[in-house]
Amino acid sequence: MITKPYKNEDEYIWVQELQQRLAKLEKEQQTESEAEKLRLKETHWMHCPKCGQKLAMEKCGSVEMDVCPSCKGVWLDAGELGTIVESAGQGSFFHTCLKIIRRR
Ligand SMILES: [Zn+2]
Repeated sequence: MITKPYKNEDEYIWVQELQQRLAKLEKEQQTESEAEKLRLKETHWMHCPKCGQKLAMEKCGSVEMDVCPSCKGVWLDAGELGTIVESAGQGSFFHTCLKIIRRR
């Protein structure tokens, strides 16, 4: 029996495009100096990437989410999406996202 890795062609194209965008960003970040990386971290640490306001930490089960009180955005640290996805089960949208992230 032949199994398809993706549910349909649209999902396959979406995964390919996402991987290309992530690879491009990773390559751009590799060219930044360590001093620039440190400056960016000090400037943006625990601030919302959408509106720039200070983030608050909210515990949700075993995950600590960073929540923006201003725009209501929610941000996760590395590995936290995996924790959420594993509780959602195989075949979910989140599970597909996690497969992409872990391939990198
Ligand atoms: Zn915000």
